Amino acid sequence: MLAQQSIAIETTHGLRSMRAGVRRMLWLLPLLASLLFVVGVLAWAYRADVAEREDRRTTLIADALSSEAQLRDLLGVEMARLLELARHLPQQQRTSASLAESPEVTEGLRRIWLGVTWLDANNRIIAHAPEQSEGAGLRVGDQADGPGVSAHLTQAVGNEKLVLRYSPALLLRRGIPWWLTRKYDVQLIDSNEQVIASLDQAPLRTEAQGHESYMVAVGANMPGAFLELTLREVAPPFWRTLPLVLMAGFLGLMLAATLLLRRQVVRISRAENAWRTEAAWRQAMEDSALVGLRARDAEGRILYVNRTFCHMVGLSADQLVGLRPPMPYWPPDALDEVMLRNKRNLEGRAPRDGYEALWCHKDGRRLNVMVFESPLIDANGTQTGWMGSIIDITARKLLEERERHQTEAMAHQARLTTLGEVASALAHQLNQPLTVIMGYNAGLQRMLTDAGYDNQAVLHALSQQGEQAAEAGRIVRRIREFLTRRAPQREACDLVAVARRAAELLKRDLQAAQVSVEWALAPNLPQVFADPILMEQVLINLIRNAVDAMLGATPHDGSGGRIRMVAQRSGERFVRMDVEDSGPGLSGRTVDALSAPFYSTKSDGMGMGLAICRSVIEVHHGGMDAGTGSLGGARFSFTLPVFDAQLQILQESGSELDDEDARANSEGEL
Ligand code: ADP
Repeated sequence: MLAQQSIAIETTHGLRSMRAGVRRMLWLLPLLASLLFVVGVLAWAYRADVAEREDRRTTLIADALSSEAQLRDLLGVEMARLLELARHLPQQQRTSASLAESPEVTEGLRRIWLGVTWLDANNRIIAHAPEQSEGAGLRVGDQADGPGVSAHLTQAVGNEKLVLRYSPALLLRRGIPWWLTRKYDVQLIDSNEQVIASLDQAPLRTEAQGHESYMVAVGANMPGAFLELTLREVAPPFWRTLPLVLMAGFLGLMLAATLLLRRQVVRISRAENAWRTEAAWRQAMEDSALVGLRARDAEGRILYVNRTFCHMVGLSADQLVGLRPPMPYWPPDALDEVMLRNKRNLEGRAPRDGYEALWCHKDGRRLNVMVFESPLIDANGTQTGWMGSIIDITARKLLEERERHQTEAMAHQARLTTLGEVASALAHQLNQPLTVIMGYNAGLQRMLTDAGYDNQAVLHALSQQGEQAAEAGRIVRRIREFLTRRAPQREACDLVAVARRAAELLKRDLQAAQVSVEWALAPNLPQVFADPILMEQVLINLIRNAVDAMLGATPHDGSGGRIRMVAQRSGERFVRMDVEDSGPGLSGRTVDALSAPFYSTKSDGMGMGLAICRSVIEVHHGGMDAGTGSLGGARFSFTLPVFDAQLQILQESGSELDDEDARANSEGEL
């Protein structure tokens, strides 16, 4: 199964990287297509060139053959005329003048004839026409008309013969149509490739120059002569034709365009990579953020939520994006109120420093959130909606709630303790007058009875009075018993930790009064044997008194006061704690005066705090003292016995130390 999965993952990975590779090479495609196109055009051009060359060759051959036939015909005609002349010759005078006058000669000379020579059997000239050329034989380079040599035709007349000298150049001129001379260079050559006649002043004559030519033998009337047609135009090689030159240019352009494209692709892919990295960073940041993010458009439709937001409300991004108010995470029992708040927020009137809201998780759990709204600005700088940052403050709220409960419980406990002390004090104070009342009442009743006074109504009233006084005493005692301070639950307790907890509980009061707390703690302090809750109350009382004294002494000008908590050993058996302040001090008042019940200098003070503290400390076999501290203000100190396991066993078995002894002990230590 795992192997299959990993194969599948590898395959997808392979496919993806292959696709990415293909995409990376896409820029080459236009160049490859152009190359293909150019190769196609080249092949086509090559084939067309081959076909054209064949065509040209065929036409050349055909033209050469037809021209040769034309020359042959012309020579045939001239031969026939010479034959005619030969036939009339026997009737002629054997003079040059007579020969020149014969019509065949005059006509022939107008055509291509250069001269006619009548030779006897010994090749001696009998006559020659025209006359001026008399004596001239068959001479090479005889330029009668046009370039080239002259040629001759011979016709036997008995044992004599007629030699006709004619101009091959004129023959060519007459025999070859003009349009052919435009296309070809036409010449007659001998077997040694010497030019006999040419229709051009500067014959091309060479195939090495690329001119194509064809040679054909002229025939029996001109033995050893060849007619040669040479194409005037040299066909350029097919790769030098205009379309192919254009193609080469096109290819060059394509190459340049491809290079540009490649550069662009590289740039784009770099930008894309940078964008991907940035997106991944942003995603990672959004996903790792403890703050929920929610983007909404102007109508409140959710455009985006991050992972934290989804976790907060227990819904996926797919379920949330696109939703319009009311949202599924709004508490259904307060929809109207939330809708109003939502309207206010969308109108841009959300409080700048955020607002608290109560939301519902999908599983029904309620959560307290703090929402901060800020405008959502698009790339053009226009506001398209709102971006909300949401912090889950449920845990903080719970903590606050717990703290509040604790403070309330503490206050309640303090009130109960105070009440107990008050009741105790009252009982102590009232007991005496009540006892006196009862004493007087009993004495009065006895005196009246002894005196024989028998007014039953008065006696009854007096007896009622006595009973009521006794009842009042009982009630006071009962209340005292009921509200009397709880028996301390002594145990091994870390006094410094208790003091820190007390300061922590008063953190808000201290912050409000701008009072700082310093700690001067001796190392390795032993645990004390005390009730941590009662000790906490003692310390709270002392710290609060210090704060009150500093607040009362200096008007709240922001300078703040200082409290110094000092913990150290006091002899072998006690730990001592001092609470010092930078307040006005005690003005010489002793601890006895300050801790007297109902003594207070505060307008709303009850005057029981120090009394209770002292009695609590004394119940723990410690001692209390007051004086001037190191900060210049008051110092309240108390000692508590160090925890001793054996002492605890003794205490638990009921053999408590005598309170007075303990007090003496502790006071001795102080
Ligand atoms: P209450 O706080 O109700 O006045 P207490 O018994 O706690 O009762 O305090 C009695 C009096 O002792 C106070 O009214 C005050 O005058 C004085 N006192 C207590 N603590 C200090 C202190 N740190 N500095 C100056 N005076 C103090």
